[in-house]
Amino acid sequence: MENPLKVIGTSSSTCGSCNSGGCGTCGPSPHASKAPVAFNRREFGYTVLAASASALLTGCSQPKKPVEQAGQPAPAAPALSPDLAVVKTSKGTIMTTLEEFYKMGPGPSSSHTMGPMRITYDFFQRVSKLPQNQLQRATGLKVHLFGSLSATGKGHGTDRASLAGLLGKAPATCPPEFLDGLAANPDQAYKVTIGPKTLDLTLKDIIFDAPKGEFHHPNTMTAKLLAGDQTIYELEYYSVGGGFIEWKGYEPPDKGQPKYPFDHARDLKKYLIDDKIPLPQLLLQNEMAISGKSEKDIWEFLDQVAEVMVRGVDTGLTVESVLPGPIKLHSKAAALQRNLKTTAKGEAARAVTRVASYGFAMGEENARGHIIVTAPTAGSAGIIPAVVKSLRDLNTPTQKIRDGFLAAAAIGYLCKHNATLSGAEGGCQAEVGVGSSMGAAMIAQALSAGPKVVSNAAESALESHLGMTCDPVAGYVQVPCIERCAYGAVKAWTAYAIASEEIPEQRRVDLDTTIDAMALTAREMNSKYKETSEGGLAVSVVLC
Ligand code: SF4
Repeated sequence: MENPLKVIGTSSSTCGSCNSGGCGTCGPSPHASKAPVAFNRREFGYTVLAASASALLTGCSQPKKPVEQAGQPAPAAPALSPDLAVVKTSKGTIMTTLEEFYKMGPGPSSSHTMGPMRITYDFFQRVSKLPQNQLQRATGLKVHLFGSLSATGKGHGTDRASLAGLLGKAPATCPPEFLDGLAANPDQAYKVTIGPKTLDLTLKDIIFDAPKGEFHHPNTMTAKLLAGDQTIYELEYYSVGGGFIEWKGYEPPDKGQPKYPFDHARDLKKYLIDDKIPLPQLLLQNEMAISGKSEKDIWEFLDQVAEVMVRGVDTGLTVESVLPGPIKLHSKAAALQRNLKTTAKGEAARAVTRVASYGFAMGEENARGHIIVTAPTAGSAGIIPAVVKSLRDLNTPTQKIRDGFLAAAAIGYLCKHNATLSGAEGGCQAEVGVGSSMGAAMIAQALSAGPKVVSNAAESALESHLGMTCDPVAGYVQVPCIERCAYGAVKAWTAYAIASEEIPEQRRVDLDTTIDAMALTAREMNSKYKETSEGGLAVSVVLC
């Protein structure tokens, strides 16, 4: 049988959130020539702007007609420069690190909002270190967006995310009110102090430049420090997918070799079951060896990830709003929480409602463009926060939650390495399916289940998402994405409940087999169901 993994393509050194620079909320894949793609969600977003204008005139928009007709080749994805680190793929041992995997920044798009904010924050830090005599001359900062960032950046909030980073706001900690304020007051000037100079910046300093041209990467942007019309310092950047960034001359950081190399669950089994090494210990040792970080640094990072997630859920549970975009979708999380306190639903319904409300809360925060963590992607970013919040409800100790994060990451790494985390390559099974599988492993690990139960729980959750398509309505990460985050979290608990009660050895399907099945399903899935908004719900829902 043909190996499906050859077709999907893999990488151990790409964006950390997907296997190829496309993780459901990231840009086109460097493997795009291997898998048929039509317009991705970002490219579609440009069409949506025109469609939205039409809808305003008519009061109603028809479902989008499929662009790609049967038998016609799909449009080719833009070529990527072979110089980009994201393109230099490799097989072999998994080398992904936690910081590459769990990335913090604004939603709703890891490539169009999180990446640009990380870029401008990087630029802010660089210029802050320039010699004082250069900074004395500074009069302004400007950012130019090119390619897909220019074409669809408005709908994704690329400009406000870019401005926030330029103003020195760190992507992981920027308050939601600040991001909302940038969008609500587009003409307001904001002060940023760089060395001896304080500069005024507005959204007009983020320029939507040429959407088409010869670019190093489809998501290219340049940042400049200016003295009048002279450029003091300039750097060209690329938002290469999953929130990962590169720049002209970028060299990926050196990595060490893992203590316990693995690229399949069966490799882990040898260490965990035959050699009796606990999974969190194995993953911690690998992380320290690959990243060079200390144990303390790793725990601090995971604690920060947990705090960002829980803060996002808590915010989402209290805010009621119509979410941005043409769908005019009302948020649900706060209402679910409120009703939970007053309605008598019975034990099962109350438990499910509580977990679902957490998933809605973070999914809605992503849609609002607030700070999220890719786990594994922005579209599926509601699942693990819902799991963390519900584990905290059970007073799960902090160290157990850290262990759970490690187990969840291991599942994500295996799916990234052997299949895909990209809705554009594998449909929603690769985003919400993997997120739910990670959540199931996290619960099992945090609640001290054995390695077989952890693996079975992950398998069970992934198995129950196989074949799930990606068909976001109007190209926005809202319908079905938010509700799927709620379901993904509930299914994570369901998978754990099944795996922890069954006789582990009697499970017929192992995790590697299901990951391979996801890769095979991804390869054979019609491209209309791979983030193109050309099939399923996207062409069935009428926007009025
Ligand atoms: S449908 Fe799923 S894969 Fe597609 S954008 Fe939404 S969450 Fe991501």
